[in-house]
Amino acid sequence: MAYIQFLGAAGTVTGSKHLINTSSDSSSHSGLQVLIDCGMFQGPKEWRERNWQDTPIPAREIDAVVLTHAHLDHCGWIPRLVKEGFRGPIYATPPTIDLCGIILPDSGHLQEEDAEFYNKQKKSKHTPALPLYTLAEAQASLQYLQAVQFNEVKKLSPELSFCFVRAAHILGSSMAEVTLKTNGQMRRLLFTGDIGRVRDRNVAPGKVVHSGPTEGETADVVVMESTYGNRVHPTDDPSPQLAAVIRQTVERGGSVIVPAFAVERTQKFLFMLKELMESGQVPKIPVYCDSPMAIKAVEIFLKHSEEYSDETKELIARYGSPLEWPGFNFALSPVESKQINDSKVPSIIVSSSGMVTGGRIQHHLMQRLPDPRNTVIFIGFQAPGTRGFTIKSGAPEVKIFGEIVPIRAQIVAFEQFSDHADTPELLQWLHTFTKKPAATYLVHGEPAASAQLRDAMTKDLGWNVQVAQWMEKVAIE
Ligand SMILES: [Zn+2]
Repeated sequence: MAYIQFLGAAGTVTGSKHLINTSSDSSSHSGLQVLIDCGMFQGPKEWRERNWQDTPIPAREIDAVVLTHAHLDHCGWIPRLVKEGFRGPIYATPPTIDLCGIILPDSGHLQEEDAEFYNKQKKSKHTPALPLYTLAEAQASLQYLQAVQFNEVKKLSPELSFCFVRAAHILGSSMAEVTLKTNGQMRRLLFTGDIGRVRDRNVAPGKVVHSGPTEGETADVVVMESTYGNRVHPTDDPSPQLAAVIRQTVERGGSVIVPAFAVERTQKFLFMLKELMESGQVPKIPVYCDSPMAIKAVEIFLKHSEEYSDETKELIARYGSPLEWPGFNFALSPVESKQINDSKVPSIIVSSSGMVTGGRIQHHLMQRLPDPRNTVIFIGFQAPGTRGFTIKSGAPEVKIFGEIVPIRAQIVAFEQFSDHADTPELLQWLHTFTKKPAATYLVHGEPAASAQLRDAMTKDLGWNVQVAQWMEKVAIE
């Protein structure tokens, strides 16, 4: 019997990996083995340790990977899979491949840095601490990526084919529709990956990709994300409040610091900022986009104009490349990055990492947090246990580079920038399905979020919904 096994993002929001095994006899591995996503576990140690475990079948026996999008919790384990012996194709859309080209090497670099840090601190029980994979290994793994266009049917065997459709989550993001012949019958499986916003850009600001996930789906089995299964995003346009916060900060002689992931979130914020400046709602003060990946990320972003919504197309037609905007500074060397600290002129600093777990944002916050004239604006999710979470939750101080830094700056958070549909949006999308799937498995959610979404879907749609368990195998009947 063909089955799906949940190797990650079951009981948690990271480590997405779902194995399809098409073998008709469960005791043999003679069928096709296809991995949908190959994500890294992040967050609590209990989950991160699973990054070191082997796949339940040898990596070299996996025939192909189908990758929904370029977030690390969906693609970050690819270099490790290749290190373990995988040599098959990794199918992804062209923008996803471009984004992986900067995200995976950066991840390898961070893995090496972490191992080095643990070895210096002698904090690891493994001596010496080793990186999960290196920068070179991440770069080597990119050769297995193969482009598949949206709506192109890719046949992997006489029994199995798949097709990418739009998920509207981030640039290049897709859902995978899989068609599988098992026991003489055709079955349609839908792997949603992460599902983007259904609502328009006023309440999902900066949303660049097509307006909403693909509607009118039909499937026998759905494997679906549930990140915001128990939350509702605010529905008001954040730009007036954002503009007011920036204006007030500038009036009191302060600077604005925005921790943001270098890919996607930073570009969204820059476009919004540009609009606010051009419309006179925010003064034209210097903007520093201080992330080593920022230029490449902007270039990839501009290359894939086919991904834009009409509003984004219009914005780019009007303002051109952010790399050319007067007053917007990119390509900062480490020395230039530190020089921003000496600047007494109010400015806006957008830097990574988005949850202040590392990167140049740490220097900027260390310098600016003690001054009450400054403002820190959070536009992304802050996971518990991160410095970003500590700062956002109103703590009086935070430890950065081993030093206690007092927090006196104003702290503001906007929840509207999420790239994930919330519960009402998910239900709205699910209502467009043309028939009830026989089974739906919820993945990519904390247990409480998944359980609440399961209950909402059962009540609202009458679907048969289960929360997937880690390593659980479910038959495709
Ligand atoms: Zn994602």
